Amino acid sequence: MNIAFIGLGIMGSRMASNLIKSGRRLNVYNRTKSKANGLGSNALVKDTPADAVKDAGVVFTMLSTPQAVKETALGENGFLNAMESGSIWVDSSTVNPSFTKLMAEEAKKRNVRFIDAPVAGSKIPAENAQLVFFAGGDKKDVDEVMHLLEVMGKKVVYTGANGTGASMKMIANTLLGQCMLAFAEAVLFGEALGFDKNFLFENLTSLPVTAPFCAAKTEKIDKEDFSPEFPLQWMQKDLELASETAYECNTALPSLSNTKELYALAKRQGMAEMDISAIYKFLKKSE
Ligand code: NAP
Repeated sequence: MNIAFIGLGIMGSRMASNLIKSGRRLNVYNRTKSKANGLGSNALVKDTPADAVKDAGVVFTMLSTPQAVKETALGENGFLNAMESGSIWVDSSTVNPSFTKLMAEEAKKRNVRFIDAPVAGSKIPAENAQLVFFAGGDKKDVDEVMHLLEVMGKKVVYTGANGTGASMKMIANTLLGQCMLAFAEAVLFGEALGFDKNFLFENLTSLPVTAPFCAAKTEKIDKEDFSPEFPLQWMQKDLELASETAYECNTALPSLSNTKELYALAKRQGMAEMDISAIYKFLKKSE
């Protein structure tokens, strides 16, 4: 079966690389073509999204925002009209459930099967094929691509109909954004009370109240090296999308609302492309 992969950023390049390492040849497309350079000769680099999906049975997308997905799928040289009838589009981008349902409808109009399969896990889990997929769609379709998801991840959670994968991802990132902020705030609080950063890292990360991923962020905070694993601008985007989703289902996320505005301010202060742990830098600057 021919496979296409569209979107070779931090996550997509590593996911595509794992598919290639499993012995497959891929058609790939990225807006900035040079990002495909590291993938080797089993990645056939195409000039447009439409070119990439010709003859593909499965098309993966890993793009930044709903707008990016829409432009790449339905814009000039978009891939959706070029997909084979009966083929499967797996969108792993983090987008909101209502957007995902619109894409599922667009796909269906063209007799393309659609799976929303966003991921939990960042740059290193993507590299090590340790991602967790939240897969929404027809169960038979998810089963059909399971062997490919398993090449890129350690777990695939079937969540139900289209939109439920995206819903789970909104919920997970509601936790991620707030846990990162809470950890950064706690470390700064500790420093203000006279503790050494490394003493705080050691003693906070061993507590059950600290989210396990925070341990992986301590080196970045320590060295103040905020090179991106998960760009802060995408965290802010995810919290914004979660907030819109909460409005649509008539619930309230009061704590998330505050958190998302802090990430928005950090983004405005030049931290958009830094790692989410740069929220520490932002809070420190604001003291
Ligand atoms: P990234 O490195 O910034 O990559 C974004 C990708 O989207 C690039 O391929 C970029 O192309 C493409 N893109 C953006 N706007 C576009 C447009 N208008 N048209 C065509 N392509 C466009 O981001 P990432 O970290 O890989 O994240 C990708 C997705 O995964 C996001 O939805 C993010 O929220 C989600 N995610 C990220 C992580 C993480 O830890 N990094 C974890 C889980 C989920 P160019 O190269 O040309 O800019």
